Amino acid sequence: MSKLFVASEVFHGAGTLSELKNLTGKKAIIVTGGQSMKNSGTLDRAISYLTEAELETAIFDGVEEDPSSATSLRGAAVMTDFQPDWIIGLGGCSAIDAAKMMWVFYEYPDANFEAMTQPFNVPTLRQKAKFIAIPSTSGTGTETTGLAVITDREKGVKYPIVSYELTPDIAIVDGEICATMPAHITSNTGLDALTHCVEAYVSNIENNYADALAKGGLEIVFENLEEAVKNPTNIIARQNMHDASFMGGLAFNNAWLGIVHSLSHQVGALYGVPHGASNAIFLPNVIRFN
Ligand SMILES: [Zn+2]
Repeated sequence: MSKLFVASEVFHGAGTLSELKNLTGKKAIIVTGGQSMKNSGTLDRAISYLTEAELETAIFDGVEEDPSSATSLRGAAVMTDFQPDWIIGLGGCSAIDAAKMMWVFYEYPDANFEAMTQPFNVPTLRQKAKFIAIPSTSGTGTETTGLAVITDREKGVKYPIVSYELTPDIAIVDGEICATMPAHITSNTGLDALTHCVEAYVSNIENNYADALAKGGLEIVFENLEEAVKNPTNIIARQNMHDASFMGGLAFNNAWLGIVHSLSHQVGALYGVPHGASNAIFLPNVIRFN
């Protein structure tokens, strides 16, 4: 028996951020990174849709690249004060992954980070809040995966926290949000999406659904990544890459990844190499080795 793990509701297409205005609830907290969501106007638009839905909204911003467990604890403390029933990760994978960990510590303030670095060791979530992921980069597919990559700075180790509990309730895959993404991030994250598709497809776990998604996602990356890098405001290419990223994420959420990612997480934490770039360096070598 197999079960396909996927975000419960997926809105995809340019402009789907507006789905936030149909949310029902009382309070939402938006977790985001540095300035990019603010500068592009996306954060303001998200807040205005939530206001239209009559949700009181708070912001936790400034999540760093490769977020630490300490940042997750700080965010959880803000959530404990605010008591949101929706947590919204908005931005790159760092913001969304940090928001996932904040969610865990908000629901379980005494949860042991060390213990959760073991696979499938996150307690049952959704006791206090549900989760929405709105990615602004097209690579990790974190909007539909049970994965949060959290860094222990003291040890210099990146931990993939793995649990289907972490799969978001709602994913909003809106390519318009990516229009301001710089070219080097577009290429690095796009190569991450490509690697997810390849590793999920050749994984030992047989899964027809994952295989079809991986093959389809790979095709889309080959047809659109170059265009998305060269013409950042081509929303069709942006949306296509965003869709491919989701498809790659959904594929590996169900068929898992391989040696490229095992190596890449370690090298990324030790030497600060962007995740997609280190994947792209390892991928041809791992294929040759295999
Ligand atoms: Zn990856």
